[in-house]
Amino acid sequence: MEKIASFKVDHTTLMRGVYVSRKDKIGQETVTTFDIRMTEPNREPAIDPAVMHTIEHLAATFIRNDARWKDLLLYWGPMGCCTGFYMIVKGDMEPCDVMDILKRTFAFIKDYDGEIPGATPDSCGNYLFHDLPQAKREAGIYLSYLQLAIYTVS
Ligand SMILES: [Zn+2]
Repeated sequence: MEKIASFKVDHTTLMRGVYVSRKDKIGQETVTTFDIRMTEPNREPAIDPAVMHTIEHLAATFIRNDARWKDLLLYWGPMGCCTGFYMIVKGDMEPCDVMDILKRTFAFIKDYDGEIPGATPDSCGNYLFHDLPQAKREAGIYLSYLQLAIYTVS
């Protein structure tokens, strides 16, 4: 089988960051897929799957409640390698277009206290499989990175 585009990226040098992984045309519309890379692949420990799960619930809930982004977000979900998330949005976008919503999302997770949204047996497939304290910690680490990073339109 053909090696798909995302496997052709050299993961041994990939850094933490926000990357456009693909842009797809669907009719007249462009859909942009971002890699929200939270750890350095193969050089840092990947994120624990229970932590990924909690970040998934909190990030999807936050973005889907945002007045602007609720209509632009098509998908937020975990990478199987547990080093980050996929964010698929409507429109032809660059990392600078999503920095504001990402900073607000990770700030929300870092400071979140209380019940994890959707972590009940009727609304989640593995509702006890969560780790809020570590999710907050990982969100704080990534937020610090986003606050330092400079993204410009290439
Ligand atoms: Zn769940």
